[in-house]
Amino acid sequence: MHLECDRIGVHESVDDVFPPEKLVDYLDDLPVAVEVVGDADVEACDAVVTLEHRDAFLEVDWIHSIQAGVDRFPFDALEDAGIVLTNSTGIHDRTVGETVASYLLAFSRRLHDHVANQGERRWDQPAWNEAFTLPGTTACVLGTGTLGRGVADVLGSLGVRTVGVRRSADPVSGFEEVYANDDLLEAVADADFVIVTLPLTEATRHLVDHEVFETMDEDAYFVNVGRGPVVDEAALIDALESGAIAGAALDVFETEPLPAESPLWGIDEVIVSPHCAAFTEDYFRDVGDLVRENVDRLAEGDPFHNRVV
Ligand code: NAD
Repeated sequence: MHLECDRIGVHESVDDVFPPEKLVDYLDDLPVAVEVVGDADVEACDAVVTLEHRDAFLEVDWIHSIQAGVDRFPFDALEDAGIVLTNSTGIHDRTVGETVASYLLAFSRRLHDHVANQGERRWDQPAWNEAFTLPGTTACVLGTGTLGRGVADVLGSLGVRTVGVRRSADPVSGFEEVYANDDLLEAVADADFVIVTLPLTEATRHLVDHEVFETMDEDAYFVNVGRGPVVDEAALIDALESGAIAGAALDVFETEPLPAESPLWGIDEVIVSPHCAAFTEDYFRDVGDLVRENVDRLAEGDPFHNRVV
C-alpha cells in the first residue's frame, strides 16, 4: 500500500491516559510533523493517534488507537473510506498482568477489607479462615493473547497454576493446560479464579453468562480486564448477590463510567477499578514505539504492524 504521511496528529482524547504533549516530544525525531490536535485540526493531518473515534477522522489515511481494544471504531465506514486502523495490542502484558495479580493478592491477603476499614478508622481483623495464599490455586484465563499471556506470566511467578481458554485447544507457552471455547464450562469448573482478557467481538459478547457463574465454584473469584460486554453483567450481579461466586475484581463494565446506581459499587467482595488496568507512566513510550515502527514501515513500503482494518 502506498500512503503519504507528512503530518501526524495526536488527538487530545489521549489526555485521559497520558498528556498528548509527552507523545509529541517522544516522537520529535521522526521525519514527519507530529502535533497535538483537536477535532477541528484533524483535517490537516494524514494520520491521527487517538483514544476515541471521531467522525472527523474519516478524512485521514491512518488512525492509530492507543488501546488494544478497537470495538468502538466503525470498521465498515473505515474500510469503505480506505482508512487504515492500527491498534496497541502487544504492549499491555506486564501492566495488566500486575493489575490482575494485585486483585488476587487483595482477595487472598484481604487488602480491600483493610482499606475499607481504614476509611472508617476501624480496627477489624479478618476471621481465622478468611485469608489464604496463592501457591497451588488455579486461574482459568479466557483469552491467550497479550493480556492472557502477561497474566499467566505474573501469576505463574506467584505460584498460581494457569490454564487458558482459546478458540482451539492447541498449547500456548506459559499455560499449563489449554481448553477450547467449547469446553469453557469444564475449564472454569475447577478454577479458584476466572479471568477474562478477551476482546469484544460478536463471538465474545456475553460469552460469560449465568451458566458460567453457576458452574464456577462458590469460593471462586471472577476478574474482568477485557471488555465489559463480554460478560452478562446482570448475571454477574445475580451470582455475587446469591453467593454463587465469592467475589469479583472488575476494570471494565457494560456501561462506562460505571453508573452510580450500579449495585457493583456496594458489594463487599467486589473491587471496582476505572478501566485503568493497563495504565503506566511508560504508556506514551510504548504507544510511541508502535507509531514509530509503522512510520518506518511506511517509509520502507512494508505492511503496517498491528493492522486491524
Ligand atoms: P491480543 O490481540 O493480543 O489478544 C486477544 C486474544 O483473544 C487473541 O489471542 C485472540 O485469538 C483471542 N480471541 C479473540 N476472539 C476470541 C474468541 N471468540 N474466543 C477465544 N479467544 C478469542 O489483544 P490483547 O492486547 O491481549 O487485548 C485483549 C483485549 O483486552 C483488547 O481487545 C481490549 O478489549 C482489552 N484490554 C483491556 C485493557 C484494560 O485496560 N482493561 C487493556 C488492554 C486491553
